[in-house]
Amino acid sequence: MKTTVIAVDGFASTGKSTLSKRLAKALDFTYMDTGYMYRAVSYFALTTDLIQGDVIQEQALEVALSETSFSWSTAAGPKQMLFNGKAYGDELRTLAISSWVSRIAQLGFVREHLVNQQRILSQLGSVVMDGRDIGTVVFPNADFKFFLIADPKVRAQRRFDELQAKGEEVLFEEILKNVVDRDHQDSTRAISPLRKAEEAVEIDTTLFSVEEVFEQMMSVVKA
Ligand code: C5P
Repeated sequence: MKTTVIAVDGFASTGKSTLSKRLAKALDFTYMDTGYMYRAVSYFALTTDLIQGDVIQEQALEVALSETSFSWSTAAGPKQMLFNGKAYGDELRTLAISSWVSRIAQLGFVREHLVNQQRILSQLGSVVMDGRDIGTVVFPNADFKFFLIADPKVRAQRRFDELQAKGEEVLFEEILKNVVDRDHQDSTRAISPLRKAEEAVEIDTTLFSVEEVFEQMMSVVKA
């Protein structure tokens, strides 16, 4: 059976996950949030003392990580990604995790492990995957590739609103700094840096609503 891969890459908080979820729902594809995987590994490192002070215990993390895995939930309803059998939610989206995740995502052994898992998890059918390296590294032959960009202040405002709605006390300036720092770390790292795949359709989401961007993406996929 021919399956389809839609890769949605781009900078932090450009609307990738909201739009990817919408696309997956409309097309009846599985949605795979690869940022969740890097965040889950960061959470794991932080909660098992594999990050001490400002230092990541890389060797110990590599050993510990080799014994972990991601899977899909088998319960009814939308598929949920599990890390070591457990579903994670808001605990992965705090500013503390966002502050570590780009450093964790620079480590070669972390990327290798997660890219392997991503390829295995996508074997069950057609998928919409969002991340930073999907169209360039994970699935360079993806059927459709999108690259989302937006003004950093607008992106920071979206994250700020999201965290505030969840009751997390944060300053707008902290969020803006995190968004800009992550963009920089993600696009300058040595392994699989964030960049637009040559054939990806670039969309600037600054001035468009979710609905408008969704329509643009759907028209590409339907064409
Ligand atoms: O998409 P999200 O903002 O949740 O991603 C969190 C972080 O995970 C990114 O800033 C990046 O460092 C890392 N990431 C990555 N490659 C991916 C997905 C996420 O390096 N495919």
